[in-house]
Amino acid sequence: MIAALIVMAGLALFIGAVLGYASLRFKVEGDPLVEKIDAILPQTQCGQCGFPGCKPYATAIANGEAEINQCPPGGDDGIHKLADLLGREYKPLNADNGVEKPRAVAFIAEDLCIGCTLCLQACPVDAIAGAAKQMHTILAPLCTGCELCIAPCPVDCIAMHPIEETVDTWKWRYPTFTLKPVERQAA
Ligand code: SF4
Ligand code: SF4
Repeated sequence: MIAALIVMAGLALFIGAVLGYASLRFKVEGDPLVEKIDAILPQTQCGQCGFPGCKPYATAIANGEAEINQCPPGGDDGIHKLADLLGREYKPLNADNGVEKPRAVAFIAEDLCIGCTLCLQACPVDAIAGAAKQMHTILAPLCTGCELCIAPCPVDCIAMHPIEETVDTWKWRYPTFTLKPVERQAA
C-alpha cells in the first residue's frame, strides 16, 4: 500500500514537472504592440471596424493592414490615443464604419419577447440570459452596447438605453498631455 502511494506521488510529481516545463517551453508570447492597441480599443466586439472583434482589428493595425479611424465605439478619443501610440497622423472617424454614439446598453421588453434565442446567439459577449420559448433578459454589466442583437430580433423588442455618465464612469476626454521630466541645467 505504501509502495503504491509512493509510486503515485512520484508519478504525479513527474507529470507535474513535464507540464510545467511544457508551459514554459511552448509559451506563446503575445505581440506587445497588439496588446497596447487592443487595450485602447473599447472591447465591444461589434465588428463595425470590419474585423471580427477588437483583437483582430488591433492585429491588423499593428501589421499596417488597417487604419486607426475604423472604430465608432472608440470614437475620436480612441483615434487620438492610437495616433499617439503609433506616431501616426490623426484622421477623423471613417463614416463607412459608422458614427460615434454615446455609450448605451441593450434592454429587452420582456413582455414582448417570444424566446426565439436569436439575440442570444448574436451576442458576442454572452450578455443575454434566456432559453428557447422563455423570456430573455440583458445582463447589463456584461453588455458592451454593440447593438448586434437588435437586427435578429423578429419582434423588435430590443432597444438601446443610453448609459448616464456618473462620477465612476466619467472619463477625461482627449487632449491629454504626457508630463515629461524637466532636465535640470548644470549650475
Ligand atoms: S446584449 Fe446586445 S448590445 Fe449588449 S453586448 Fe450583447 S449583442 Fe451587444
Ligand atoms: S430575439 Fe427578441 S424575441 Fe427573440 S429571444 Fe431575443 S429578445 Fe426575445
